[in-house]
Amino acid sequence: MLKLNFHPSGRHFLQIPGPSPVPDRILRAMSLPTIDHRGPEFGALGLELLSKIQKIFKTDNPVIIYPASGTGAWEAALANTLSPGDKVLMFETGHFATLWHKMALRLDIQPEFLGLPGYEGWRHGVQADMIEARLKEDAGHELKAVCVVHNETSTGVTSDIAAVRKAIDAAGHPALLIVDTISGLASADYRHDEWGVDVTVSGSQKGLMLPPGISFNALSPKAIEVSKQAKLPKSFWAWDEILEANKNGYWPYTPSTNLLYGLNEALDMLLDEGMDNVLARHQRWAAGVRAAVEAWGLEIQCLDPSVYSPVLTGVVMPEGVDADAVRKIIYERFDLSLGMGLGKAKGKMFRIGHLGDCNDLTLIATLGGCEAGMKLSGVNLNGSGVTAALDYFAANPLNAGER
Ligand code: PLP
Repeated sequence: MLKLNFHPSGRHFLQIPGPSPVPDRILRAMSLPTIDHRGPEFGALGLELLSKIQKIFKTDNPVIIYPASGTGAWEAALANTLSPGDKVLMFETGHFATLWHKMALRLDIQPEFLGLPGYEGWRHGVQADMIEARLKEDAGHELKAVCVVHNETSTGVTSDIAAVRKAIDAAGHPALLIVDTISGLASADYRHDEWGVDVTVSGSQKGLMLPPGISFNALSPKAIEVSKQAKLPKSFWAWDEILEANKNGYWPYTPSTNLLYGLNEALDMLLDEGMDNVLARHQRWAAGVRAAVEAWGLEIQCLDPSVYSPVLTGVVMPEGVDADAVRKIIYERFDLSLGMGLGKAKGKMFRIGHLGDCNDLTLIATLGGCEAGMKLSGVNLNGSGVTAALDYFAANPLNAGER
């Protein structure tokens, strides 16, 4: 039976691809007393947050913040832009793209699910040429939106969103571009305005290093215009009242005050470090982890190196090895949590998160836990991934000797 007050010595290694480890600085910021969400101090905080968050999405347009998990922000993006029966084009990249497609069906939208055949789609990114070809066929412009996942958390693939924008433009199609970067934001390069995204969906518990509980819709002027005619039922998710209240730094309902304290701290941390440095840090960690997987002689879930994720790496287990059994041993013996294989990938692979509040040594410890756990599970490894990653990190300092 689960002992609720059981606490193993030392720290837990939360290396799932979100929720990511929350820095102490953020935990402390969230422990401040809750204030009146209609008072002047809150309004000042709200205005500051709403302006700083734009820098993370790389947009000059409004960003909506919801007191909800990422799934809520998915629904908000669809409910604010579409009407019952509308057709949309979605692309199957993995479990999260599949869940979003399922949500669209439940919302009375007609989603078309494009993808590579079989399991191939779960090992590659969005194929922009397939989107372009499908949009060119749609001469009547029945497809109202193209919905894609930027960083597919179930597989470790980061799709090329600029290429999807180009494909829509090349087809001369007016569809909105709606992108889920729930696990990409603040860890992988993301540019809402430059890439011409109409709605970007994101969440708090990944690159922003916060606990779960808040999520985002970044908008475009076109999305705001379209939302005025969109007929899907919505009230809590409706952008109009939120945009109005946000003008003074408030929300139409009670926001998640303490999570917003945390967000403010996270934004300061990220912007002080500089987004280019944050992104380079994640790329470097990902390369170190991939060096380890290669040294083990195992396959990476993503088969296209041009779309390797800087956020997480999927490690494929050899035929006949149950990845969940390996994860269980690693969890029980080393107090290390790894992401499970989801949906079609269940039991075939595990996922190592390298996002948020990590450093070289937490990742080396993580790889140590993986390596020891796989050996205990009888997985044949070619060599030491830990040594390969250590060598990679030593040979590739982030900033001439700085961390
Ligand atoms: N989309 C992606 C890419 C995700 O990684 C997740 C969660 O991990 C979701 C959507 C769903 O978000 P949430 O679990 O916060 O509702």
